[in-house]
Amino acid sequence: MSSTAFSSLKLRIELQENLSSLGYQAMTAIQAQSLPDILAGKDVIAQGKTGSGKTAAFSLGLLQQLNVKRFRIQSLVLCPTRELADQVAKEIRKLARTIHNIKVLTLCGGMPFGPQIGSLEHGAHIVVGTPGRVEEHVRKGTLHLDNITTLVLDEADRMLEMGFAPSLDAIIEQAPKKRQNLLFSATYPAQIKAIAGAVMTDPVMVKVAATH
Ligand code: ADP
Ligand code: MG
Repeated sequence: MSSTAFSSLKLRIELQENLSSLGYQAMTAIQAQSLPDILAGKDVIAQGKTGSGKTAAFSLGLLQQLNVKRFRIQSLVLCPTRELADQVAKEIRKLARTIHNIKVLTLCGGMPFGPQIGSLEHGAHIVVGTPGRVEEHVRKGTLHLDNITTLVLDEADRMLEMGFAPSLDAIIEQAPKKRQNLLFSATYPAQIKAIAGAVMTDPVMVKVAATH
């Protein structure tokens, strides 16, 4: 039996301390099953219901390897909607509140383009966004993905249902070949299998049926 205490992971001390102060003690099932592989740098496909704690699973992976002194976009998280992107950014900021000077930027459709260009010029460590808008920034050369070490596809099934496959392809094409891929989904339809086969390297599959 693997332990479900966060303290069983070799997380950086400021993350470990923050989790305690946030009252996160035990990992949820999906966290316990995916975090060891995520932290080992493997590609992971994780399937679990809403509320199973998927956001913290990938966020801790991103934050563990983030180099704050290197002011480059090191992680890109793609979400189906602005609301979900805002929620994810909020959770990342909460988990990262003990990592000083960390910059998390959201890039979503339905928001004015100009201010996003200004924010990108100021720089960020992590970008959370929706595929259409992120693709637009990549195409226009206002967002460079050359320093991405981790790509997260959150709610991948919904992104595909919403017709974002071409945007995902265009974005992924501009990301460095050598990167970690994390794919989170509530369901695992054929289209996800196809994407996973195309973009991921030897992925570890994690599936949690119950909520916790
Ligand atoms: P999902 O993306 O799987 O639908 P979330 O990542 O949004 O689920 O998590 C649901 C809620 O559970 C969030 O409010 C989050 O802060 C909380 N949470 C996640 N992991 C833990 C944990 N290990 N201990 C306590 N609360 C947690
Ligand atoms: Mg989620």
